[in-house]
Amino acid sequence: MDTVVNRLIRYAKVYSESDYHAPAGVLPSTACQFDMARLLVEELHILGIENARVDAQCYVYAAVPATPGCEHLPAVGLIAHMDTTPDMTGKDVKPQIIHYEGGDIVLNAGKNIVMQASQFPELQKFVGQDLVCTDGTTLLGADDKGGIAIILQAVEELLSEKAPHGKICIGFTPDEEIGRGTDGFDVEGFGADFAFTLDGGDITDYEYETFNAAKAVVTIHGFSIHPGTSKDKMKNAILIANEYNSLLPPLETPAHTEGYQGFFHLQEMHGKAEEAVMEYIIRDHSMERFQQRKAAMQEAARQIDRRYGPGTAAAVVTDQYYNMYEILKDHMEIVQLAEEAMKGAGIENPTHSPIRGGTDGCMLTYKGLLCPNLPSAGHNAHGRFEYAPVESLKTGVKTVKQLLSPALLERVILHKS
Ligand SMILES: [Zn+2]
Repeated sequence: MDTVVNRLIRYAKVYSESDYHAPAGVLPSTACQFDMARLLVEELHILGIENARVDAQCYVYAAVPATPGCEHLPAVGLIAHMDTTPDMTGKDVKPQIIHYEGGDIVLNAGKNIVMQASQFPELQKFVGQDLVCTDGTTLLGADDKGGIAIILQAVEELLSEKAPHGKICIGFTPDEEIGRGTDGFDVEGFGADFAFTLDGGDITDYEYETFNAAKAVVTIHGFSIHPGTSKDKMKNAILIANEYNSLLPPLETPAHTEGYQGFFHLQEMHGKAEEAVMEYIIRDHSMERFQQRKAAMQEAARQIDRRYGPGTAAAVVTDQYYNMYEILKDHMEIVQLAEEAMKGAGIENPTHSPIRGGTDGCMLTYKGLLCPNLPSAGHNAHGRFEYAPVESLKTGVKTVKQLLSPALLERVILHKS
């Protein structure tokens, strides 16, 4: 029998970074993700799951049929992503297990890389525990190889214990970190009635609310003329662009908001007197406020037109993704299943926090596969201080086994009131 920790360490060593700069439509963005995919297919075959396969776009699918007498149970999907973020190198990851006794953690004495307890106060929760850490020179990739390790360990244990279970659908995806993780996902072929991504953080926290998201490209059409002879003629698009931005609420930006507070984020601006372009993203958990924000961008454009003439400002707003809660709110038994599975795994008070972003699960939910997000046990994702507590990984395995337990599925899903 393997262990979840050995799995995480084994998977973390496989270089599988995705690439923001891959041309649109290319899946996967990097060929190295196939190394991860092929390893996982091999391991699934060793577990006796013959149908495990990787497709041409690097999606790994596998299905474990229901045990006799459990065919009536819903087919539960388990999904994790194989890529690591390009934001921090994931090459030559050298995981190490450190027994944490409190205080700062020296990750790399030679390079003087230290994880400061004062900077990461949540470390306090793990005093006395073993942590899977990096050597300080790379990320760990517990995001999301913690999720992969938890899923495969749980399935291995269920199979070797010959425990009864319904159909289990397993999916490992490429390119989540660059926002393309579900582009090639075959919801139909996956065959689950509903699913969970294991792509969260702390093992006590699960998620079923995401932002509603749109992007807006605002173009200001100015009028350029020699500055020496431009009195009452020039319309400087850059200055008008600044004026446009000042029509938006100044405190509703990412730097001033948290929790359920939405924002406008000006992420790029370029131009000259003749023309200026601003690129925004708009985010809000509430659909009503999301619509109001989009309308506010159009109203600001009309206001600019009133000041400088028709056709001066044009805002093109495009929706990107929606809060999965808009759909999940009518299927809260699936959220309840997640919560009860966590409690069954010994987590006394599971918490849920609104994601200030999107997940693969939110895309899948809108493709027809309901998909809340479960924790994958990692902390400080996307950086050199990423770590995963061993106890948390083990609790994750218990959570997945609970999630698949016939008794819980019967009670929460089949007999929902
Ligand atoms: Zn992730």
